[in-house]
Amino acid sequence: MRVEIIFLGAGGGRWETISQNKGTGGFRIHTEKTKLHIDPGPGALVRMNELKISPWNTNAVFVSHDHPDHYTDAEIMIEAMTGGMIKKRGYLISNISVLEGFGNYENAISKYHQSKPEKVYLLNPKDSVDILDVNLTATKTKHGDPFGIGLRVNTKKGDIGYTSDTEFIESLVDDFNGVRVLVANVVRKKNERIKGHLCSNDLIDLLNEMNKKPEIVVMNHMGLKMTNPIKECEYISKNTDINIIPAKIGLKIELTEESYIVSNLKN
Ligand SMILES: [Zn+2]
Repeated sequence: MRVEIIFLGAGGGRWETISQNKGTGGFRIHTEKTKLHIDPGPGALVRMNELKISPWNTNAVFVSHDHPDHYTDAEIMIEAMTGGMIKKRGYLISNISVLEGFGNYENAISKYHQSKPEKVYLLNPKDSVDILDVNLTATKTKHGDPFGIGLRVNTKKGDIGYTSDTEFIESLVDDFNGVRVLVANVVRKKNERIKGHLCSNDLIDLLNEMNKKPEIVVMNHMGLKMTNPIKECEYISKNTDINIIPAKIGLKIELTEESYIVSNLKN
């Protein structure tokens, strides 16, 4: 049975999202039974079309928080998941701001779209849910949306972690300890610390504090000022002894029993 991670974007933050250099479509985890789309931001459907990935077999959608670079294509993805809003099908997993609204954050996914999945799960940090052949556990974040959540996905080939948008908080160390793959949202390069997000130095600290480190880390959600992702990943690798690679539209990581295979669907 296969476990694959496929990226539909590598960028994030307002400026990068507007300019669409790196793409903002989020990423997917495909297992034997689960076709999970994580944070379908602007362009998710267009990128999938370019890469010839069908949206129709999507059976789970996860939106980590109520910012548009993470949610704008979520309703369309739900429409695909439900066969065009005809069948009650699939799972929607998100937080309170996205599903109910909170303060100035309106519910980004309409009640109409929330009525069509088979089940809607509103998760808070540490909440866990079994869907299809995976287990999902929400992780804590510290970000603009006070209820933002990250995700730890337990598959038959081990765990995949997703920090979502967050600044460095101590709980990240435990939350992602022992994952095989970590997708880390790093908006800025080294020495450019910014509130509510990770920069390269924060990722180094996080990885060095873990006692069971990931086999590979994918740097995701890079901002406009991250002009040389490869160089930045080399810097983080050198300081952690872990293989760090930048996300890219079409990047695919397949988990094998012993290791992983990196390829690109665009080649
Ligand atoms: Zn955000």
